[in-house]
Amino acid sequence: MSATLLQRSLAAVWHPCTQMQHHESLPLTPIVRGEGAWLITEDGRRLLDGISSWWVNLFGHCNPRINAALREQLERLEHVLLAGCTHPPAVELAERLSERTDGALGHAFYASDGASATEIALKMSFHAWRNQGFPQKDRFLCLEGSYHGETVGALAVTDVALFKDAYAPLVRQADTVPSPDARQAAPGETPADVARRAAHALQAKLEAEEGRVAALIVEPLVQGAAGMAMHDPEYLRQARALCDRYQAHLICDEIAVGFGRTGTFFAHEQAGIRPDLLCLSKGISGGYLPLSAVLCREEIFRAFYGVDLRKGFLHSHSYTGNPLACRAALATLDIFEEDDVLVANRARANLLGRLLENSFSGHEAVRHLRQRGMIAAFDVDGAPEDFSRRFFMAALDAGALLRPIGNTVYFMPPYVMGAPELQTLVAAAAAALDKALA
Ligand SMILES: *Cc1c(COP(=O)(O)O)cnc(C)c1O
Repeated sequence: MSATLLQRSLAAVWHPCTQMQHHESLPLTPIVRGEGAWLITEDGRRLLDGISSWWVNLFGHCNPRINAALREQLERLEHVLLAGCTHPPAVELAERLSERTDGALGHAFYASDGASATEIALKMSFHAWRNQGFPQKDRFLCLEGSYHGETVGALAVTDVALFKDAYAPLVRQADTVPSPDARQAAPGETPADVARRAAHALQAKLEAEEGRVAALIVEPLVQGAAGMAMHDPEYLRQARALCDRYQAHLICDEIAVGFGRTGTFFAHEQAGIRPDLLCLSKGISGGYLPLSAVLCREEIFRAFYGVDLRKGFLHSHSYTGNPLACRAALATLDIFEEDDVLVANRARANLLGRLLENSFSGHEAVRHLRQRGMIAAFDVDGAPEDFSRRFFMAALDAGALLRPIGNTVYFMPPYVMGAPELQTLVAAAAAALDKALA
């Protein structure tokens, strides 16, 4: 008797973000093919990918244009080290990302995943200050509920107990400051009021730690892993001004919210500001290949420039600037330009919002229905402890891949869903909600 793919996976593959024992009752979903917004299972079922396969996919699975670009790159150059060598995709991508910041962030440092981008930004910030004669600036500030990755370094600025508590003795803890999460609004308060309140607390912290803070790191507009906590752009404006005033770097982690997710190409644009360091990953390669980049300002780059090797930024990863991954990213940027994606997404996001409003705003268990561009979410009141798994299973039965964070149901569809697909997705969520609460 031959073992099924599921049995073999559970025996040989240690799955991420998973208590493996739960798979004794919760079956894995074996995916063998992808087609636009759809995933196709081993037994031929079609599932709508409502969360862009962990927020990475932008233009659908097996996108013909990205596939073609990758095939072409594959025949030219699959990989070469980026120390001492360079290649066209790495150069062109760095230039085009810089252009997307109007040249404000003109230097791109590549890595392979989001957590590494966080680590790079933290190291770069500290080391830049050190090179400039401020070695005492060795502290970082992050927001309550922040998520910046799960390596030991990135956990320092991640504030999600479930991912962090077990490793507390290993982690050099950053200071957390209040989140501007708009759900905290008191009666009569606007989201901008909450933002100003949080900025006030940030100022107090910067004041108390004057001269010691290297950087503040934020997820602009939407704190993803916290459960899609959304805030007013006013917070970013004030944070920018405070970082300038107290001589700290502002690191924007746009690993999840970059590449059009919140309605603008970068989320920080909605505040009319630029960070000093910008972390990008996830959607950067259209969801094809692991790639991340940290973009930085000229002053930071200059702080490392000189004859002394030890003053340089010596960080490296084996696959830094992989040509295939960079080429997927270039094909992704081409689609943004050729299809006027940000404009098309406005209509798509409006429709998603209307559908969610119709299905959920009157639901007795639904709280804080919220949306920012192509991210929408609501919280579920009175959810059972295993709500997330129950909902996930029920959604699969209804034909959709949706994976709540705790009691927060969220939608982060790829930018290729049409009206019928969005309707199917929301209908599946409505069926799943009732089943998960039954
Ligand atoms: C996913 C994510 C990360 C970590 O990226 P990985 O590639 O999973 O290491 C960091 N920051 C934010 C905001 C994220 O959403």
